[in-house]
Amino acid sequence: MSDFAQSITLEEIEEQVKLKFPSHKKFNDGQFQIIMKILSSFLIDGNKFYILEAPTGIGKSVIAKTVANVINYFTVPNSKIITCNRLLQRQYSSDFDDMKNIESSKHYDCAISLFKGAASTHYNDIDCGGRSCPSIGRCDYFNAFNAFINAPTGITNYAYYLMNAEINSNLLIADEAHNMESLICTHYSIELESEQVNGLFKYMKKIQVDNESASKIRRGFLEMRSYISGQTENLFFLDDFIYNIGLMYKRLTSEILKHKRGSKTTLIFSGKEDHLSKCKSHIEYLKRLEVLLQIFRSNPSSYIKMYSIENNGSEDLVKAILKPLEPRHIARILFDRSKYVLLMSATICGVEEFAANLGITNFGFDCLSSPFPVENRLIMLHNLEGLNNGNFSQLVDLYIQKMDEILDFHIEDRGLIHTVSYSNQKLIESKSRHAKRFILPKRGELFNINKLKSTKNGILLSPSMTEGVDLADDLSRFQIIFKMPFANLGDKWIKKKMELSYVWYLIQVARTFSQACGRSVRHKEDSAITHVIDGNINKIQHLLPKYIQEALKEDN
Ligand code: SF4
Repeated sequence: MSDFAQSITLEEIEEQVKLKFPSHKKFNDGQFQIIMKILSSFLIDGNKFYILEAPTGIGKSVIAKTVANVINYFTVPNSKIITCNRLLQRQYSSDFDDMKNIESSKHYDCAISLFKGAASTHYNDIDCGGRSCPSIGRCDYFNAFNAFINAPTGITNYAYYLMNAEINSNLLIADEAHNMESLICTHYSIELESEQVNGLFKYMKKIQVDNESASKIRRGFLEMRSYISGQTENLFFLDDFIYNIGLMYKRLTSEILKHKRGSKTTLIFSGKEDHLSKCKSHIEYLKRLEVLLQIFRSNPSSYIKMYSIENNGSEDLVKAILKPLEPRHIARILFDRSKYVLLMSATICGVEEFAANLGITNFGFDCLSSPFPVENRLIMLHNLEGLNNGNFSQLVDLYIQKMDEILDFHIEDRGLIHTVSYSNQKLIESKSRHAKRFILPKRGELFNINKLKSTKNGILLSPSMTEGVDLADDLSRFQIIFKMPFANLGDKWIKKKMELSYVWYLIQVARTFSQACGRSVRHKEDSAITHVIDGNINKIQHLLPKYIQEALKEDN
């Protein structure tokens, strides 16, 4: 039972939910009930965690804001919402006036730098005056940060919240929580690339920094490389390495500060901006490396080692990476910063596995139905023999033939084909009868939707539009999932995770598939058919959210 069990009743929670629900919104079907369930779980049952699987259209942001408002009222007014990217966090802050947004300091101009005509300084950089800056009152970042910290509810992104470990919250709401594992593991990866490390060595030599520390750091990097490449299991050097990294960045920082004040410094500064900015970037790298190595030191066996050498024609480029395999060790650092944690996603796809992976026990859970009529979002299963590496060349023509028949049926419509890989994208383009209708967004391109709008029956052919793309109404009346989105086993991390748990591997497929299904039906009156060609769907059907399962139909 919670500490509040004696003092807070269901009736009081109900009253506050009605009062604190955003005044410019109306309750959607089921919203009131789920808000009550989440709050009762926290305030009456005493659970720290609640996991909510809720499809598009439920109004997750309104649920999050109301839960935050009520928790702020009954306990401590300090709720923070984290989401995957700046676009989503800006959407939250534009929906709710009193929600204060913070982004990385790199996105705010420095009042002083602007004044000088050089906008290269950001808050907390070495040459930022911080709280003693004469322009602190006009500092956009400082003002935004204070507003975020002091607001009852703040919004930021995962990377910012992970990076700023001193920020605590009474209630943490993690949106798009299906990405949490991958975001955490990537954030805490340690990457030692020869180009960056050699650049640092050269820099230390050039500025004639203290030789003893420099050579200890050099040795540390070499030992680390041997460890990651598997030549040794010895980590005795680690403490000394971390200690010297700390010494080095503090030393560089103090010399920069001396230089700034016009005092004598042992470093050779040419006074040129690029020299200073190089020094700043090495300091940032060393500082971050120190933090990551300290976390790694506490549990080295939970990391995977990845080592590769490529020759660029003139030299060997070494990439040595340590990446956490088990996010639960690190997620605890994140969750310990809050009393309550609400995790929301449209695609949890197996709550027990999701919770265990993040080290979560004793949690409340609900999976909501879709508010969109099932007949508007049918998923047709064409069930061709499942594609795999062994039968791909034998079956691919049959798949393209089936795809072309579906495109004949949708001859008047715009649509989207999920190809899973760029090589499939090229292959399909080269063999399909409908190639003239295809639009192929390039790798890394920020797609301009007007390209699709300007066509009568254009089709997006892409491996990277399974998430974050909004193709409402006539922009897309159909989708084709050409091949089930099995994650690439060429990635050593994914391969290792699959070896540890095949269910984990299938869950990744179920999530990507479910996300892909949601691209073309964006509101209650919208409609689109999703066609699935690959019979491998039967491997993950049981892991799909209920609202996806109910939309599956066999093609007879
Ligand atoms: S505190 Fe001053 S120097 Fe630092 S970013 Fe703000 S305005 Fe610039």
